[in-house]
Amino acid sequence: MVAHDSILDAIGATPLVRLSRIAAGLTPQVFAKVEALNPGGSIKDRVALRMIEAAERDGLLRPGGTIVEPTSGNTGTGLAMAARIKGYRVIAVMPDKMSQEKIDLLRALGAEVVVTPTDVDPDSPRSYYSVSKRLTEEIPGAFNPNQYANPANPQTHVDWTGPEIWRQTGGRITHLVAGVGTGGTITGIARYLKAQNPDIQVIGADPEGSIYSSDEVRPYLTEGVGEDFWPTTFDPSVVDRYVTVSDKDAFLSARQLSLVEGILSGGSCGTAMVAALTVAREITDPDAVVVVILPDGGRSYLSKIYNDTWMREHGFLERPPERTVGDVLRTKEQEGGVPQMVAVRPTHKVRQAIAVMHEHGVSQLPVVSPHDADALVGSIGERGLLRRAAKDPAVLDADISDVMELPFPAVSADGPVREAVELLSGDQQALAVIEGGRPVGLVTRSDLLESLVVPA
Ligand code: PMP
Repeated sequence: MVAHDSILDAIGATPLVRLSRIAAGLTPQVFAKVEALNPGGSIKDRVALRMIEAAERDGLLRPGGTIVEPTSGNTGTGLAMAARIKGYRVIAVMPDKMSQEKIDLLRALGAEVVVTPTDVDPDSPRSYYSVSKRLTEEIPGAFNPNQYANPANPQTHVDWTGPEIWRQTGGRITHLVAGVGTGGTITGIARYLKAQNPDIQVIGADPEGSIYSSDEVRPYLTEGVGEDFWPTTFDPSVVDRYVTVSDKDAFLSARQLSLVEGILSGGSCGTAMVAALTVAREITDPDAVVVVILPDGGRSYLSKIYNDTWMREHGFLERPPERTVGDVLRTKEQEGGVPQMVAVRPTHKVRQAIAVMHEHGVSQLPVVSPHDADALVGSIGERGLLRRAAKDPAVLDADISDVMELPFPAVSADGPVREAVELLSGDQQALAVIEGGRPVGLVTRSDLLESLVVPA
């Protein structure tokens, strides 16, 4: 049988995948290390397992012990998963701004979740920091892995991820591109690789607003990378160069990676991808081999990065152009074959107008000046005619000028459909659409409704 003893043995040995589509036409070869294929879905499975093993070795974690983890993301998932197999209790402390999905995910893996209020001072006893600290102190045998200061975090990548990449590239890697959160990934992999070949270039991919590469530290939306302080797990001296990436570019790049390479990617994958392609475009050596670390997958971001509404709300996607009254008119023409402008003159008889309405299947007509076919002088419609004819059948032989009503209100063909909807919500039967200073057609309520059903 070919089988693992537990799911923990399935951590690591992630594939290196050539990005031949997204990097087509570039001089170097570009490869992705796809860490989403770890069983917990991210590179943090490796770190979680190794931090637990180190704590066991150091006597900080004993059988039946408790892991108190004050983060909600990928590290929490890795810890919860490993704790199931190893028999530890996990208490995840997270601020109440975290999504229900993240809470549910940790509970699904058997973690206890303590939710703390976001709107309190960090010094408050109810804060996220205070609660995790107190739980770690009060619970006998509790251990807080603290991935921002735990040397086992970068060491995981020195011992494990770095050697994998060296082997998978046959020692030909020339450029490593990775995001920097705790810095464990980039520090560990770079230390190993630079020990093999000191010429390897290490590129840090960093969100705009992160302390590592930005002058102004400010909030951003990309999760898992960048910081507002310098953690001790990060050795900045391993980084040869940073590429700073906006949220928008990162998210669009993650979507592109998913669509073009079929690799459903998290936001920080987008950050790393933008940096990798920036560097790859500058490389002139055809023997160069660029490896980009893709830390997690896209499933956790379906309601954000992969949701068009969310992306538009944040200005990361253009809004679709608003439909205009002119669009409605064009749809109507295509669908019904109605010639754009059918009109009658004041000197025509009512009878003739009725015949024209019948012929074209319309319920109202504009009346145009006998001297200028573009001048709207009035309107007639079934409703008004019926009312008059019921009282006096002779009206059928009257001149239109005797019975016509006011011209239809005019709307510009460039105007939004919204405006037309507004004007037609009262008694008004139709609107005259003006394009280039001339009336080009009528729109009615049913035209507007139909245009909503028939896509442009
Ligand atoms: N991307 C994601 C999604 C992450 O969760 C993390 C871990 N914080 C990183 C990137 C960065 O990894 P590291 O902490 O090793 O720098």
